[in-house]
Amino acid sequence: MISYDDIRQLQQYPSDLDSLVLSLYVNINQSNAANLNRGFETAVSNLFRRMAENHNSENNEKNRFLAECENVLGFLKDYTPKGASVVIFSDSTRGFFWHRDLQVELATEGRFSSRPWLRPLLEVLEGHDRLGVVLIDKHRAKILTLDATGIEQLSEIESDVPNKHATTGSDHIMSQGQMERDHAKHIKWHAKRVADELASIVDRSKLSRIVICGPVEATTMFTGELSKQLQHKIVGTISIPLDASPDRLMSELRAVQERAELEDENRLVEAMITSAHKGDRAVLGISETLSAIQQGRIHCLVVARNYHAEGKECDSCHVLVSDGLERCSFCGGKLEAAPDLINRASHRVIEQAGKVQIVSGAAAEKLAEAGIGAILRF
Ligand SMILES: [Zn+2]
Repeated sequence: MISYDDIRQLQQYPSDLDSLVLSLYVNINQSNAANLNRGFETAVSNLFRRMAENHNSENNEKNRFLAECENVLGFLKDYTPKGASVVIFSDSTRGFFWHRDLQVELATEGRFSSRPWLRPLLEVLEGHDRLGVVLIDKHRAKILTLDATGIEQLSEIESDVPNKHATTGSDHIMSQGQMERDHAKHIKWHAKRVADELASIVDRSKLSRIVICGPVEATTMFTGELSKQLQHKIVGTISIPLDASPDRLMSELRAVQERAELEDENRLVEAMITSAHKGDRAVLGISETLSAIQQGRIHCLVVARNYHAEGKECDSCHVLVSDGLERCSFCGGKLEAAPDLINRASHRVIEQAGKVQIVSGAAAEKLAEAGIGAILRF
């Protein structure tokens, strides 16, 4: 589990002129043939070799890089793959080593820089909002959360629900009708109890999405016990027995989550296009988006998954532009080619504490003409 405290700690990593952190994302997914037989270690060694070749800097920095690589390779040698990716930050001159397993597949990539390289991690966490999951039947319940690092159980509840029918040999103090009413009352009481527990967990863990799982009768009764506010957070209901296998539960949850994310992306793009046409705190197209970055106005950069653009960066004031000028129109500096314009633009937005949302599916089609746009702070 990656907490917000973890991220804050990484974001506030004390960087000075002397600090150098090796950041590494490794695809370890064992369903990729290339990763079997510890193939992911080979992929990392190859990556480090390529990074070392690009390192034409002074010797001391290169030596530190090589030492850091060795440190990380030593860790990977004894590492048992537990998910789809692993993320590592290492700065042994400060005794700093941080790693987490991720259930989300990422490309094997690295950086050696003064701060931890967080963008892939942030993108994963933003794309996989923590999901609250309630598993409930007539007398049992579990409350879990699911995020990019996997599933975590937060609470387990078992309520005492008396039988609907008298068992042989028991004292028939209550009539059959009374017993059925008593049974129904306890089930409702159980649902209410779980609803209260969920309300406090949602509040504490700041969950924005909930999925309810269980037999239909129990999930219907439970949903009825939730406040309107919690009902609005429900993104799906899954009909599944409580003792279903974790694999089945996980795949059904992922399907619900994916659908909810696509719907969110779609809404985001629609809102952005509408606002941009009204000229109300949104822009569309590369050149307007770059000028909004220049002005530090971007709240959320929205990019269609396959969108690509080339442009230039001023070697003096570092403004990013998409036109074919030779000289910067802001400072007169020289403009250098920026073939990875969108990547650079994304970095700028994150540095300005904005968000980057990559959209796919129907949302990407809606954005196809502009390819890129942004929702602005002001
Ligand atoms: Zn300039």
